[in-house]
Amino acid sequence: MTYRGRFAPSPTGPLHLGSLVAATFSYLQARKAQGQWLLRIEDLDLPRTVPGSADHIQRTLEAFGLTWDEPIIFQSQRTEAYEQALQFLIDQQQSYPCSCTRSELQALQRSDLRDHDELRYPGLCRHGPMHAQGPFAWRFRVPAQPICFTDALQGMQCLNLADSIGDFVIKRRDGWFAYQLAVVVDDAAQGITEVVRGIDLLSNTPRQIALQHALHLPTPTYLHLPVVTDATGHKLSKSTAATSVDNTRTGPTLWHVLSLLLQCPPPALQTATLNTLWQWAIEHWNPNALRQIRQIVHRDDNTEGKSTN
Ligand code: GLU
Repeated sequence: MTYRGRFAPSPTGPLHLGSLVAATFSYLQARKAQGQWLLRIEDLDLPRTVPGSADHIQRTLEAFGLTWDEPIIFQSQRTEAYEQALQFLIDQQQSYPCSCTRSELQALQRSDLRDHDELRYPGLCRHGPMHAQGPFAWRFRVPAQPICFTDALQGMQCLNLADSIGDFVIKRRDGWFAYQLAVVVDDAAQGITEVVRGIDLLSNTPRQIALQHALHLPTPTYLHLPVVTDATGHKLSKSTAATSVDNTRTGPTLWHVLSLLLQCPPPALQTATLNTLWQWAIEHWNPNALRQIRQIVHRDDNTEGKSTN
């Protein structure tokens, strides 16, 4: 089977270094396997979309020579496919309407849970909505048995969805489809064979595998990358000073990204052309260098990177 990988950014700001690291890893996996690399813009959640950032992301990828092989998919144009998937799940009694409001659910939250802990949905609407009046969200009826998979870098993972998060939302009360459903429908539509993304999304994978089973869709392999942090250990994100990637220093930046990925490019290549760098990177590509690594540490001077385990 031909390898098909993808990069699926949400256009909520310009591309930052952490995303460039993920894109580069996924691109090299595809190129090394002589497969295809696709781009999907996850502009599903229009209220969170920042105008201009989808363009900026595309221009940045192009500037770095990260070229995709097929037309871009925009999630904002895929509502019909998500509707069909939802309808299939409803027909199979795998999805049900839920009238619970966020504040009702928060009131049930145990006081010992910390803010970032996800509330397990207690199934209040499982046998019919609590309130006759909408608006309704649509929840996915999770399986009782654990979902297990082997992550290519992080090893074996198992999660019992029923015990941990419960039936989760696949279409929100405000009418937007949830990331979990959209990503599953789109990975299948694009024939993705391996999903490469940041470790912050690892806990979503069992939900996505459960949805694939329910929708009779194939499960790709998964590879979750260690988080990229600044020197103080904070995750690089759009909200930190991590900032957007400089399109004018592509060669040295790509060299730096390859160093962060522990590919050890020779110092002489710091001034090489992008083409030479990509050729070197594909030839020497070693994804296993990141096994057992917890954090990829980026230092601001943009010359040295180091990873910790
Ligand atoms: N759109 C998601 C993000 O930018 C990534 C989704 C994925 O790779 O599955 O965080």
